[in-house]
Amino acid sequence: MDGNGASNNALQAVKSPSPIPSKQDILKQLANPDGSNGGSVFAHLQSNPFFTAGFGLAALGAALRYGSRGVQQTAALIRRRMLVDLEITRHDKSYEWVLNWMTAQYQNQVGPQQTRRQLGTMDFLIRKFMPGLHHLQIETSTHKSANGAEQTAFSLVPGRGKHILRYRNSFIAVSREREGKSFDAMGKPFETVTLTTLYHYRYVFEGIVSEAYQMSLQNVEGKTVVYTSQNMSWQSSGQPKRRRPFDSVVLEKGLSERILGDVREFLDARTWYLDRGIPYRRGYLLYGPPGTGKTSFVQALAGKLDFNIAMLSLSQRGLTDDLLNHLLLNVPPRTIVLLEDADAAFSNRRQRDTDGYTGANVTYSGLLNALDGVASAEERIIFMTTNHIDRLDDALIRPGRVDMTVQLGNATEWQMAQLWDRFYAEHDENGEGKRRFLRKAIDTGLVNIVSTAALQGLFLYNKDDVEGAIAMLEQLDPSKGGQ
Ligand code: ADP
Repeated sequence: MDGNGASNNALQAVKSPSPIPSKQDILKQLANPDGSNGGSVFAHLQSNPFFTAGFGLAALGAALRYGSRGVQQTAALIRRRMLVDLEITRHDKSYEWVLNWMTAQYQNQVGPQQTRRQLGTMDFLIRKFMPGLHHLQIETSTHKSANGAEQTAFSLVPGRGKHILRYRNSFIAVSREREGKSFDAMGKPFETVTLTTLYHYRYVFEGIVSEAYQMSLQNVEGKTVVYTSQNMSWQSSGQPKRRRPFDSVVLEKGLSERILGDVREFLDARTWYLDRGIPYRRGYLLYGPPGTGKTSFVQALAGKLDFNIAMLSLSQRGLTDDLLNHLLLNVPPRTIVLLEDADAAFSNRRQRDTDGYTGANVTYSGLLNALDGVASAEERIIFMTTNHIDRLDDALIRPGRVDMTVQLGNATEWQMAQLWDRFYAEHDENGEGKRRFLRKAIDTGLVNIVSTAALQGLFLYNKDDVEGAIAMLEQLDPSKGGQ
């Protein structure tokens, strides 16, 4: 019954609503609040069901809006007062370091299972229940080396989204986010990593960035970064490689030292060049048959001088004159440029002259222009290699383009002896095996015929086996299908 009564009342209310006050009424009421004409405007409004319903909803909406704004403002205030952010964009150098640092932190956090006693209760619980980095992303870099071999390197970095890390005694919220849908020139999306922690722990950021930096240094310390051309610029290809020991590449007696001495002299003469307005660059041409150590020597030299190396094959398809020019003008600091197959530019010219060929390859004049354009206050050391010196043009061998030309030949008797010692010093202490090996090389006419690469292959195959190396020597004879 009650329910019916209530609905009847509501019906009545709908059927005969109290008149809605006009604007004037309201103004009058407001002007006369003591209710001489029958109560305040608020009392009037309260008695009006339409108004009360609408007002209630509006009030509720406003309360919610102001309430949520209040909550937001309070949250913002707390953020401002109590939290501190560090934002790093992808284009800052520290971006990669910090991502790698985070991965290392994660690996520490999920390291070998440890007991509560070993860790202490707090850290044990944190490791057990903290979200940590559960979303990793794989970054794969692939590059083709000049000899065509494909090398692939993988690294795990924190994926996009939010992560929590514990660092010393603070918690760090990490957010890796993409900004919009745009990509940079290298096809990588714009991104930021934001680290947030309590204001009280703001000092940890300095610790994190310097740890991340030290980690990046350790990663390249004693190593050579190899850059290759990717997406129109030099990109480090894979992880830095262990330095190749300088004496592991055996050139003819005294030759390695002569080249090293020349480069050192050039590096010491910076002010001499700059004072005279001469471009501070030096070009070297290494020529000789394949497998005589041209590429390896430049790598070992870079290691010796604590330089990195930027490698490019001029026979690489898609390498245009403009790109070559751009790359030579934008060499990373302390980096030796190695241009392999220098003859390719000259072969292209011949092909172009005869077949009207206009493929996307470097041309002869493009190479000369790019070399001439190299100008920088920093040293520029450019090594070119070729297996076909006869295909080069004299115009290349000119000071400023090529200042030193060096021939690397097949293994001489001296090189054979040196390489032998590097492999068998322990197994042939009195050098008796070496004498027999060299005698055999002379008798079979293989001195200056076999490449150092082939010799190294023989010694690797017969690792620790002096007799095996001597017995298999004649198999290297090119006239018998060796090498
Ligand atoms: P190139 O550039 O002249 O074709 P590489 O430097 O690519 O020759 O050599 C090919 C392989 O042979 C490398 O593994 C290198 O270690 C080895 N090798 C070639 N020449 C020498 C050398 N003179 N001393 C030591 N190793 C050599």
